[in-house]
Amino acid sequence: VVSALLLSLTLFTTSLLALAADGAQKQEYQSDVARLRKIVINSLYSHRDVFLRELISNANDALEKLRITSLTDKQVLGGADDLNITIVAHKNEDGTAKLVIRDTGIGMTPEELTKNLGTLAKSGTSEFLAKAEGSTDTSNTGNLIGAFGLGFYSSFLIADKVYVTSLAAKTAKNPNPSQYVFSSSAEDSTFEVYPDERGNTLGRGTEITMVLKNDALEYLDPVTITELVNKHSSFSTTFPIYLFTQR
Ligand code: ADP
Ligand code: MG
Repeated sequence: VVSALLLSLTLFTTSLLALAADGAQKQEYQSDVARLRKIVINSLYSHRDVFLRELISNANDALEKLRITSLTDKQVLGGADDLNITIVAHKNEDGTAKLVIRDTGIGMTPEELTKNLGTLAKSGTSEFLAKAEGSTDTSNTGNLIGAFGLGFYSSFLIADKVYVTSLAAKTAKNPNPSQYVFSSSAEDSTFEVYPDERGNTLGRGTEITMVLKNDALEYLDPVTITELVNKHSSFSTTFPIYLFTQR
């Protein structure tokens, strides 16, 4: 169920400030990730709608992990009361457009940000890479995506720059987690992970901020987003999805 709500501008400006790295170390993607990103960016233009389905599916997985973990460890629920997904579309005065997808799920530690987003542990990925790189017919890539799924990297179909801000759930092992940012650009093969200088603003969970490409501004439109969610994700999550747009 998608409900459209209106949000005042002031809320965004604070939440999107200061995502930039301060002297963070650039890291190279594992080579398979670099190959996958290249395919995503170069040959999947006509399938770029898939990004939303992939990110909602990740948010749903994170919320489901939190829910399951909370059955044996209540403290993971601390920090944010509700289990939900929020989508925020926002255009800055300077013309930059951002689409933000946030969940109050299990979140990621800095080690998990590096491991889960900087390396490919996924089964089937090398097979996908071999097939996609071996095929001169890019129209076939769409079928390959359907079969394998592209996951998080599909965000680079519509974004020049992606920030993943995450605050892991409190656990016995990690009772005082802090918020970290993973950032990466579509055009280079590196990423950075650094502490969030804004502090633990999320309460708990993960926020994907996509700085939209100039030709992807249609994804700011609440009607477009709502249609995509209804078309591809209406049965893939039982958690509520809230959509905030600019007045
Ligand atoms: P998959 O979902 O098939 O594992 P993805 O590329 O979509 O592959 O995501 C890679 C991994 O990154 C996930 O397995 C998960 O560990 C982590 N991840 C991605 N998005 C989130 C999120 N919103 N919250 C927590 N972890 C996430
Ligand atoms: Mg996924």
